[in-house]
Amino acid sequence: MAEILRVEHLKKNFSVPGDRGKKRSFSAVNDVSFSVERGGCFGLVGESGSGKTTTGRTVLRLTEPTAGRIFFDGTDITDADMRPYRRKMQIIFQNPAGSLDPKYQVGDVVSEGMRANGLYGSRAERLRRAADLLRQVGLSEDDLRRYPGEFSGGQQQRIGIARALAVDPSFIVCDEPVSALDVSLQAQIINLLKALQQERGLSYLFISHDMAVVRHMADRIGVLFRGCLVECGETMEVLSHPAHPYTRALIAAIPAADPDRAAAKIHALRPAAPAEAGEGCAYAARCPYAKEVCRLERPVEREIGPDHSCCCHLFS
Ligand code: SF4
Repeated sequence: MAEILRVEHLKKNFSVPGDRGKKRSFSAVNDVSFSVERGGCFGLVGESGSGKTTTGRTVLRLTEPTAGRIFFDGTDITDADMRPYRRKMQIIFQNPAGSLDPKYQVGDVVSEGMRANGLYGSRAERLRRAADLLRQVGLSEDDLRRYPGEFSGGQQQRIGIARALAVDPSFIVCDEPVSALDVSLQAQIINLLKALQQERGLSYLFISHDMAVVRHMADRIGVLFRGCLVECGETMEVLSHPAHPYTRALIAAIPAADPDRAAAKIHALRPAAPAEAGEGCAYAARCPYAKEVCRLERPVEREIGPDHSCCCHLFS
């Protein structure tokens, strides 16, 4: 499988309020590299604030990168005019209610991208196409004339998926697409996304804080901690042989029924505050294996197996 997306040494800094009214630079994404195979799904997993959404938005150039290169379909799009690529690179948002304009009927919401891209000759044709898409995502043609607010959260996410598909993309960033949904609905949306991927040969960058969700979707995963990709590899390999202590904590947190164990794991998962992080490994303040060098030197990425890399002094 050839890659459809490649990201090299991506960085994104934001200017945030600092001491005494001054601004300081905050590194949301720090030297992140990965690729998404054509027809594959790369899962980006990490806790809230780890830089997942910023990474997803930056590869789509919805946010401009501070440094690094982004290649789509073999072309360097880092500085490119994105208009020719917008159709092929879509996004499904975390909060379906907030991403659907409540003033417009669903038919217009779904077909807006077609209109903006000059697809199909007339509104009637676009609505026919929108009806097909609604059926494909488990809704009906009658829903064309209803408003987003009349639907449940799961149905709204199906509308968001239909909208993303309307312009016939090849690559979709799925940004926490099920995290706002009940557990029973999560499986339905995951199954729908997998079925659509197979039918249409779609490639996904699938972003989630939930390792349990990512393992169902992704064939390869990357684990983000404070903007750094700390482990990356084939999903089953990473899940069965997790190397980085943070990855191990994420996996261990999947079944957290015991409140004491859950509290201990949440402590292990919580990102270190910047003041605790120092110059070394960002995870050092939480890591049970931290040693002197971890607080002094930032670890670099090492290959630890075929298609499996880790960024930790335990593997230096
Ligand atoms: Fe823990 Fe050190 Fe590895 Fe960081 S580099 S995860 S502190 S062992």
